[in-house]
Amino acid sequence: ALVSSPEQVRFPSPSKKKKKNHLVPSLIGNARFTSSKIPLFKEDSVSMSRPFGLKDYRKIYERSIEDPAGFWSEIASQFYWKEKWDLEVYSENIDVRKGSIKFEWFKGASTNISYNTLDRNIEAGNGGKVAIYWEGNEPDDDGQLTYLELLERVCQLANYLKHVGVRKGDAVIIYLPMLMELPIAMLACARIGAVHSVVFAGFSSESLSQRIIDCKPKLVITCNAVKRGSKAIHLKDIVDSALRESAKNGVTVDLCLTVENKSAMKRGDTKWKEGRDIWWQDVVPHFPTKCDVEWVDAEDPLFLLYTSGSTGKPKGVLHTTGGYMVYTATTFKYAFDYKPSDIYWCTADCGWITGHSYITYGPLLNGATVVAPNYPDCGRCWDIVDKYKVTIFYTAPTLVRSLMREGDEYVTRHDRKSIRVLASVGEPINPSAWRWFYNVVGNSRCPISDTWWQTETGGLMITPLPGAWPQKPGSATFPFFGVQPVIVDEKGNEIEGECSGYLCIKKSWPGAFRTLYGDHERYQTTYFKPFAGYYFTGDGCSRDKDGYFWLTGRVDDVINVSGHRIGTVEVESALVSHPQCAEAAVVGIEHEIKGQGIYAFVTLVEGVPFSEEIRKSLILSVRNQIGAFAAPDKIHWAPALPKTRSGKIMRRILRKIASRQLDELGDTSTLADPSVVDQLIALADF
Ligand code: ATP
Ligand code: MG
Repeated sequence: ALVSSPEQVRFPSPSKKKKKNHLVPSLIGNARFTSSKIPLFKEDSVSMSRPFGLKDYRKIYERSIEDPAGFWSEIASQFYWKEKWDLEVYSENIDVRKGSIKFEWFKGASTNISYNTLDRNIEAGNGGKVAIYWEGNEPDDDGQLTYLELLERVCQLANYLKHVGVRKGDAVIIYLPMLMELPIAMLACARIGAVHSVVFAGFSSESLSQRIIDCKPKLVITCNAVKRGSKAIHLKDIVDSALRESAKNGVTVDLCLTVENKSAMKRGDTKWKEGRDIWWQDVVPHFPTKCDVEWVDAEDPLFLLYTSGSTGKPKGVLHTTGGYMVYTATTFKYAFDYKPSDIYWCTADCGWITGHSYITYGPLLNGATVVAPNYPDCGRCWDIVDKYKVTIFYTAPTLVRSLMREGDEYVTRHDRKSIRVLASVGEPINPSAWRWFYNVVGNSRCPISDTWWQTETGGLMITPLPGAWPQKPGSATFPFFGVQPVIVDEKGNEIEGECSGYLCIKKSWPGAFRTLYGDHERYQTTYFKPFAGYYFTGDGCSRDKDGYFWLTGRVDDVINVSGHRIGTVEVESALVSHPQCAEAAVVGIEHEIKGQGIYAFVTLVEGVPFSEEIRKSLILSVRNQIGAFAAPDKIHWAPALPKTRSGKIMRRILRKIASRQLDELGDTSTLADPSVVDQLIALADF
């Protein structure tokens, strides 16, 4: 077997034999950010000297674009393949005018991602290394699994799944909070070639049943309850009602494997359906700790993940095995400058793509040690960093802004010295939040990877490589190797240089989704028809004179004021830069003269009351930073903003509130806290 240690999951060293066209880096992260090298703030940009620089990046990037097959197959060779791919490394049709959209990578090769994650790292001598540190609701409720232990747990479940008749290609729904059993279940499915579909355990029974109806799983894996703060949420009850609902729609599930989560609820208190419900603890530990892997084709499906799909039926984004494996492992390694000694913490939940690619697969493929707490609150954030000596911290702007709102003391009273790389994903990070993250959390010494990507892209697409080039707060900077972002105008023509427009991707990349489950037509219509010849991201973007990419928000959210197209992010960032503003969300409203006007919802820093004076100075802040045309017509004080369960601001609902269409608010049950909406309505002065 071609077994490689985690250190070998990397590009071959370019140095000694100077092979032509072999421009791949050895280790990008040679520089130590914890050293005394003080980064320089230079006109809004942070520059860190290090051995790997922009020039090196450009060389490698160019090669990845000129010769994707050579580039990616070299990297792919570091993984274990039972059988190598066909001569053609990839094939694609990204142009709807030329027929059905098709992306294929490493077709004909057979592999297994669970094998590459566990067995391969163990054979390389890392069996005793901690794979996952788990942290429960209470600080002393913690645990850990080494790679070897994780493999054994995965094998037991895989054997159980086989025993109950789950076969290659079958779907399995996983509705679990962040317990160890969640990544275990993902890896067990992958081991036997079953397709997992994780549903975030905050979704309602209705959302869950929609997903069950769509993918018709062989079984559902859940737990009886989970504690959020002091309250126990009865997940099993939610599953019960989702299963009743799906049965009404002709989809019955015969088996519900339930983890007994003792800290939240006792067995005896759990509603039970004999014959269908089985306790995980009663069956799984009795199965053998060894389980042969099912070798699958690189293009066999690995998982389905439903995006929220703000309108209509949720979209089942389908990812396959080989390309996804290579892409998540490589992006993880470079965008976070991963080293074997790192302790990595990503605050996402495995219910989201970030949890799939950058909690489970990317890090574990690299043999990394991952910290995975169950619902940490802000207060415990830095305790956890200090407890585990976290070196790489990956989070979302929403968390950064809420920490910022509470004040610096909550951060500065902790040590945090271990941190060397900070990273962010999910929304654009406003420059002032970026600076706070950089200055306060990172003590002005850690680079920030602002990673732009999507559920659909599988892995990050536009991102800094830590310290490799000067950063600009709020810009995701440059594309990752092999990714070709382009900005197009309304007619779909590529625009060059300094410009702003629609963000599209030209050419496939290994981590791309292959279809929407059961609906290839919708896949093509949503993503490939708007601009023929390209994958359309749905996001707006601009590029500055230095070639840096700046995400400006979703194009559906763009506001057109007197002919000026204004991205929501720009105005929001101007508001958030006001010292008393913690968070802001702007939407367009009808305006007799201007076509659209700007309506801004603002949350103030803890303890600051809203006043006429603040209102005026907020507007002034936007006028000064952008111009009079972008000045908000209305400022609406928002003690809190409506957010999705993954922490993103839901502008769809804010638009309805702003335009007083209160009876058309739509489904608010997908909000993390629906009561926020009533609060906002009560504070409106219509
Ligand atoms: P849905 O597509 O179902 O409405 P969603 O788009 O929020 O949900 P995700 O795939 O998790 O689901 O999020 C991807 C989107 O998040 C991107 O298209 C972009 O709008 C935003 N985003 C993610 N990371 C960044 C970033 N670093 N900077 C700016 N925007 C980002
Ligand atoms: Mg999206």
